[in-house]
Amino acid sequence: MDLPKTPSFTLPGKRALVTGAGRGIGLAAAAALAQAGAEVTLAARTLADVEAAAAALRAQGLAAQALSLDVTDLTRMQEELDATEPFDVLVNNAGTNRPSAFLDVTVENFDLVMNINVRAAYFVAQTVARGMVKAGKGGSIIHISSQMGHVGSARRSIYCASKWAMEGFSKAMAIELAPHKVRVNTLAPTFIQTPMTKPFFEDEKFRASVVGMIKLGRIGEVEDLMGAIVFLASDASALMTGSSLVVDGGWTAE
Ligand code: NAD
Repeated sequence: MDLPKTPSFTLPGKRALVTGAGRGIGLAAAAALAQAGAEVTLAARTLADVEAAAAALRAQGLAAQALSLDVTDLTRMQEELDATEPFDVLVNNAGTNRPSAFLDVTVENFDLVMNINVRAAYFVAQTVARGMVKAGKGGSIIHISSQMGHVGSARRSIYCASKWAMEGFSKAMAIELAPHKVRVNTLAPTFIQTPMTKPFFEDEKFRASVVGMIKLGRIGEVEDLMGAIVFLASDASALMTGSSLVVDGGWTAE
């Protein structure tokens, strides 16, 4: 009897790019992909951070290198990425947040968040996708969105705007890139302990309100996302495109 075989969750021979890979979710994504067998390029503004991370991965016998990249400098970003071999996987992760009451939001903070989370993420994806299409081998683009790309929340109007925008361009990209076998999905995490969220959780009342919303009763760790990243990057998700994989402990179930 021919039993169906689970498609591969490994990534041998695949080249992966992770933006904002010096810390937090980006670093975890880079480690997950390298551990699954990919050759990973860790990109961030602070070269020393990604060099240290790439060296730590290499010390474990994994394939990793560092790239200095400010994703908001579109001209340089395009030059830097065009100078590399095409990638098979992109984790479009660099992002930021400036929580503020809607009535107090400044144009400066609006522009800062939208510039990184939307404008830069959009053009990084375009640059990498052009390389994928040219190479003709297909690929997987994983946008790191958020549960805030599916719901609203107090003090998150700019962030929600940016992540709903990402959900939108991800679906549109998926439609256009499907004929090229380039899959495009988002990963939408709940609150995860990272350098970005550390200052938010210093407010005990806020921390308790977040835990109260997460039905599984705890804030996420970066490890909670690593399996999802490997799944979306690999053949295990071969028929998945234009989707969002929500890893939110049940936040949006209600
Ligand atoms: P973080 O601040 O710890 O890391 C963000 C990374 O992006 C850093 O390495 C930073 O240097 C990099 N970055 C920022 N601006 C950049 C630029 N101009 N060029 C290159 N790199 C730049 O944040 P994190 O919590 O790990 O968040 C990573 C992603 O995950 C973001 O897109 C964020 O919106 C998303 N996210 C985070 C959470 C959370 O709770 N931590 C939840 C959902 C989604």
